[in-house]
Amino acid sequence: MIIKYGKLAVAAATVIALLFSAVPSRSAAEAAPQQQSKQNAAVKAKQKSRPQQKRGQKQKQRQRRRPAAQKVDMSWVSLHKQYPNAFLLNGPRNLKRVALTFDDAPDPRVTPQILDVLSRYRICATFFVVGERASKHPDLVRRIISEGHIIGNHSYNHPVFSKLPLSKVQHQIWQTDGVIKRIAGVTPLLIRPPYGELLPQQIRWSKGSGYTIVNWDVDSEDWRRNPSSARVLANIRKTLQPGSIILQHAGGGEGQSLDGTIHALPVLIESLQGKGYEIVTLPELLGKRAYR
Ligand SMILES: [Zn+2]
Repeated sequence: MIIKYGKLAVAAATVIALLFSAVPSRSAAEAAPQQQSKQNAAVKAKQKSRPQQKRGQKQKQRQRRRPAAQKVDMSWVSLHKQYPNAFLLNGPRNLKRVALTFDDAPDPRVTPQILDVLSRYRICATFFVVGERASKHPDLVRRIISEGHIIGNHSYNHPVFSKLPLSKVQHQIWQTDGVIKRIAGVTPLLIRPPYGELLPQQIRWSKGSGYTIVNWDVDSEDWRRNPSSARVLANIRKTLQPGSIILQHAGGGEGQSLDGTIHALPVLIESLQGKGYEIVTLPELLGKRAYR
């Protein structure tokens, strides 16, 4: 076999890059629609000062990584170790149970279709709601609740929490709590920060205020380049295991298609059930209360 050293060097560089970005790479994950392009624009602006030769493929890879330059020791795994009950990535590994979670709800183009599929299979899921969207589509929020699903807080307008002072993060959470309370009469205790990003002091505040931060250990990557249902399913299978929390989206930005997610959902549910998994909500999976 002929090994091309050029390729080998690229492969080695990729492995090193992946090692250092293992957890951070999930940050861009979960990018909400309209904010994802904003985020990329911000990263692009930052990169403008870089030499011309560094552009191209490597630049594209960087854009998909963590928006703020955070150290590896701030990774989710170490945050979970530091705050085992306040910052969660998965449920117990000894039970064949998983939770479906849908971010960036509600969106009239996507959320009703997701709800229709879940209803057909009598499955309950957890929807992380963006306050600004909820105030525009209150009926959808009420439908989510009335069909037995759980609602969590996903900020008011989807900023990167790790770039905000605590006071602004608190405002994002409280404002969304207020919207959900007015519409549905409940106040969520589960928070998912946009992009999964947040700082230790923000976790400490959340914990002290009775909230639980819930990220994920399975990323469907349905936010990335309008993937096919086959791609979404393949992405989920990569890291799925007992106790997994699966990230998908029930809302998108302009020009974004979540058809892959919608079409993958029946196949995913049947496949999970066929393997003996029980699909539960986050409060069930984690043994946490959903609302105050
Ligand atoms: Zn989001």
